[in-house]
Amino acid sequence: MINRHLLPNEIDLLVDGDVGFGVAPLRAHVRQCPECQARVDEARVIVDALEELPHFAPSSVFAERVMQQVHVFEPWHVAARNSVRRLVPHSTPARIAAAVMGVAATTVLAVASLWIGMRLDMLTVFSGTAIQRGREIVASAIEGVVGAAFGPAALAVVRAMGAAGLLVATIILAVAATGAVIGVRRLATASSRRAGGQ
Ligand SMILES: [Zn+2]
Repeated sequence: MINRHLLPNEIDLLVDGDVGFGVAPLRAHVRQCPECQARVDEARVIVDALEELPHFAPSSVFAERVMQQVHVFEPWHVAARNSVRRLVPHSTPARIAAAVMGVAATTVLAVASLWIGMRLDMLTVFSGTAIQRGREIVASAIEGVVGAAFGPAALAVVRAMGAAGLLVATIILAVAATGAVIGVRRLATASSRRAGGQ
């Protein structure tokens, strides 16, 4: 038995039917105090009314809709990884095809660079020092590209052979590029057959 009126949280304990240590003195007080009894009864009526109300739940897409309008900070490396992931195809044949196309594109660029280099070589025979200087700058850049794409050994061979070397290298690369295109078409046909379930 306690000699004061109950606090709101103590009334909640009684309404909830709590049976913990310390509930007995609260009950004893309520039995002898009409005022607290009235408050407990009132709280019980409210709780019962709340229980009878329909229970609402948010829509299953609620969280998604909210998050669409929330700007989430994305670190640059995560954004970059996601961009790359979107660019990389999902199926293995498509991945191989993309890789082959990348190699083919690099090859075409390298051949174009070789051709430009050859043209610049011919040009300098008849030109002055200004173009000579420009040729040196461009040639060193092209050498960097060719060396990176084919390795220094290939670069040395092509240089040693001069125009004939460039011609042979171009033919080899053209054959390789044609093979790559045929391979890509085969892969595309195979994957479309598989997708069609035949
Ligand atoms: Zn009381």
